[in-house]
Amino acid sequence: MRTLREVLAAGERSYSFEFFPPRTEAGERTLWDAIRRIEVLHPTFVSVTYGAGGSSRDRTVAVTERIAAETTLRPVAHLTAVGHSVAELRNIIGRYADAGVRDVLALRGDPPGDPGGPWTPHPQGFTHAHQLVSLVKEMGDFSVGVAAFPEMHPRSPDWDSDIRHFVAKCRAGADYAITQMFFHVEDYLRLRDRVVAAGCDTPIIPEIMPATDARQIARFAELSGAAFPEDLARRLEAARGNPAAGHRIGVDHATAMAERLLAEGAPGLHYITLNRSTATLDIHHNIHGSIQSNIQSTQTPRSTRHALAAHR
Ligand code: FAD
Repeated sequence: MRTLREVLAAGERSYSFEFFPPRTEAGERTLWDAIRRIEVLHPTFVSVTYGAGGSSRDRTVAVTERIAAETTLRPVAHLTAVGHSVAELRNIIGRYADAGVRDVLALRGDPPGDPGGPWTPHPQGFTHAHQLVSLVKEMGDFSVGVAAFPEMHPRSPDWDSDIRHFVAKCRAGADYAITQMFFHVEDYLRLRDRVVAAGCDTPIIPEIMPATDARQIARFAELSGAAFPEDLARRLEAARGNPAAGHRIGVDHATAMAERLLAEGAPGLHYITLNRSTATLDIHHNIHGSIQSNIQSTQTPRSTRHALAAHR
């Protein structure tokens, strides 16, 4: 199977779905149900977020290994530097290699418990993502991705330093980037222009997070810092208590964003699924009219991927 680096280098667009490691047996069943249903759509890859600590991390590795062993899907393994020595990171990368996983998303991660709190590296670990990129590259012929932030990383003091450090991750060997969630296409386009102006042509895949419920909005702002469109907020507020209407509003908004991003030359789309949401499949179906989505209808969870990072 080709790596994501090879897919993008061939000029093909990437369509992908992101999951998080489930905490319960019921969650595990829901996840595998979603994975099997997504498998028939032949996405470019699926990814599993890396937990904030302990058992959720083991579950990330186990789910990623199982995807590699038991499905036809290409898994992209998220990995963060949080709380890990370099020796531990080497061990996890080795496990992925043994399982046949050749794609890794190399991240610094956030302080466990309080994503906005002070960042303290492990004494024998890494301070920033570019070091993890170098380690993964050193350890084998991996295809490596990194994070990008259309509204600037919340800790960056200014755009110049944000772009400089992003480009450093690419120079360390990143083959592509995936963005944080965002709700204004212009933010993605400005980021891409800034990166190109800095002499870097690493493909940046936009992340699509459908907002289908007014209760999610405050959480989005709190966790991702993404500016939420007032008009969308008003319409979701008006649909409060009517899940079908909220779903339609969120899917229509995200579909319009996705279509514009592709028209502007984005190298693909990365959907946050929250393991069970139908919304991403509906958007994917809207974009690829011929693909028949057979994902079952389920309720839309309230939390976002970055809320889930708290128990990854
Ligand atoms: P870095 O690239 O290290 O950047 C962090 C900050 O440090 C930035 O402000 C940057 O400008 C600055 N910086 C970088 N290098 C230097 C330097 N040399 N000197 C000074 N400053 C520097 N989190 C999880 O816990 N698990 C996940 O699975 C996960 N998946 C994610 C997937 C995507 C697509 C995205 C966008 C984010 C994900 N995150 C995940 C969240 C991510 O870990 C956090 O946003 C984290 O705060 C930043 O990670 P990074 O890899 O961009 O860090």
